[in-house]
Amino acid sequence: MSEIIGFIGLGNMGGPMAANLVRAGYRVRGFDLDAASLATAKEAGIEIAGSALEAAEAAGTVVTMLPAGHHVIEVWTQLTEAAPSGTLLIDSSTVDVASARRAHALAEARGCPSVDAPVSGGTGGAKAGTLTFMAGGSETAFARAEPILKGMGRSIFHCGEAGAGQAAKICNNMILGISMIGVCEAFALGEKLGLSRQALFDVASVSSGQCWSLTTYCPVPGPVPTSPANNAYRPGFAASLMLKDLRLAQAAAGTAGAATPLGAEAAQLYAVFEGLGHGGDDFSAIINMLRGRHTG
Ligand code: NAD
Repeated sequence: MSEIIGFIGLGNMGGPMAANLVRAGYRVRGFDLDAASLATAKEAGIEIAGSALEAAEAAGTVVTMLPAGHHVIEVWTQLTEAAPSGTLLIDSSTVDVASARRAHALAEARGCPSVDAPVSGGTGGAKAGTLTFMAGGSETAFARAEPILKGMGRSIFHCGEAGAGQAAKICNNMILGISMIGVCEAFALGEKLGLSRQALFDVASVSSGQCWSLTTYCPVPGPVPTSPANNAYRPGFAASLMLKDLRLAQAAAGTAGAATPLGAEAAQLYAVFEGLGHGGDDFSAIINMLRGRHTG
């Protein structure tokens, strides 16, 4: 009989990820607080449980994919009070490093190996099974988690001990937030200087300004036809999620005593953008706010 995996949190990311585990041949028992998410999961072949604990019953591994750190602590507290020792716990949500380490400590106290394994690749990657996983935890816990993560993703990295996956995720996304604002400022300045978008793209994409925010996710329509700018800035990756990750990076920087002045500025700019009602727009749409700002 195939291994049972409990899956808690079947939303935009968790739903398709759990469906890919079914396709990979696992029996998946899922739970979510939201009835619509449960109905979609059922259609994808996931067995529906009445609670997180029921989803975890008889499961060798439990995966959580929840909104934030306090949800993970709440669910892992329940799980570690009931799950047999030896049950592997994997959290793939994006949460603060401190909560990730607390979750690992709960698991360790119960004798459960655990892995923090946040993802990059968005809902498209979740559906296609091409997510990148960045994992933190012991070698033995990672060795058990890796084949399961491979059922949902393409690139799997073991970044270090407990919390290292979350650390890698927020550092990467801080680069992304800062670099997107930099690319947007360059296009806004180029426009004011009478430079065509295509000319700036052609030069910068093969010069020292080259980066993912420019070449894969260009914030103006035209040069990269697949970027959200060509689709009225529909996400993609919503600005509110970028703000969440930038705030997590700021919280971690505060705790660790790291200087991140550009990360702080990026968080501030995305907070203003969200405050203007654009949290649901793709994060590259911040170019529209930057264009509207004037100096002197
Ligand atoms: P979502 O809101 O669509 O899904 C979260 C699900 O968790 C919801 O269905 C909710 O009902 C459920 N939930 C909340 N508390 C619960 C509980 N106690 N028990 C059971 N279910 C519970 O969010 P999402 O887009 O799937 O994101 C999940 C995580 O992945 C977040 O941490 C997010 O930051 C991260 N992430 C999202 C993306 C993206 O593009 N959406 C990309 C990378 C990482």
